[in-house]
Amino acid sequence: MGKRALWQSDSVDISRVEADLDLTQTLFTEEQIQTRLAEMARQIEADYEGRDILLVGVLKGAVMVMADLSRALNRHVEIDWMAVSSYAGTKSSGVVRILKDLDTDLAGRHVLVVEDIIDTGLTLSWLVANLRSRGPASVEIATLLRKPEALEMPVEVKYVGFDIPNAFVVGYGLDFNEKYRNLRSIGTLAEHVYS
Ligand code: 5GP
Repeated sequence: MGKRALWQSDSVDISRVEADLDLTQTLFTEEQIQTRLAEMARQIEADYEGRDILLVGVLKGAVMVMADLSRALNRHVEIDWMAVSSYAGTKSSGVVRILKDLDTDLAGRHVLVVEDIIDTGLTLSWLVANLRSRGPASVEIATLLRKPEALEMPVEVKYVGFDIPNAFVVGYGLDFNEKYRNLRSIGTLAEHVYS
């Protein structure tokens, strides 16, 4: 089974080697991702009973999570998107710029930010402050993946799919230089690809 202790979830299968796709390990299979998103959806449905939800996604990484999480929800939701500048390569810069703003007025809305991954949380802290300044009824966060540093972030993340160790991951929306977003699973990229 390999280095199972590296990963906090017992259900993670890291035994598959996808050398041909430059991945060293598959961390989460398509099935594991869908199962976890369905669990998150049940929790969200319960928490938001009687309240309209506006799902806000951040392009481009959150596209797959948004598509699957929104369809896992057995209720009406609205969906809107923002695009913010992100860094090239594998390190967070903390520099955030709005490239595309929401089409929706947030006044009085229950906003649920849908994220693919939270690393340092710099992007998200900025985003939440920005959204809160627009007078919403509430702002909460759902993320599929969370890295250790994010635990020290002042912003509370209400829904977390998987906590993962510090490693650069790709697939299921997550890219390396715009590639690998279309993988159905999530894995770590071999160092030779980016070094
Ligand atoms: P943060 O501001 O939390 O450090 O970084 C947030 C953004 O950095 C994510 O939305 C994502 O675009 C990118 N990012 C952080 N960690 C990873 C990673 O392991 N893989 C990929 N592909 N992107 C990451």
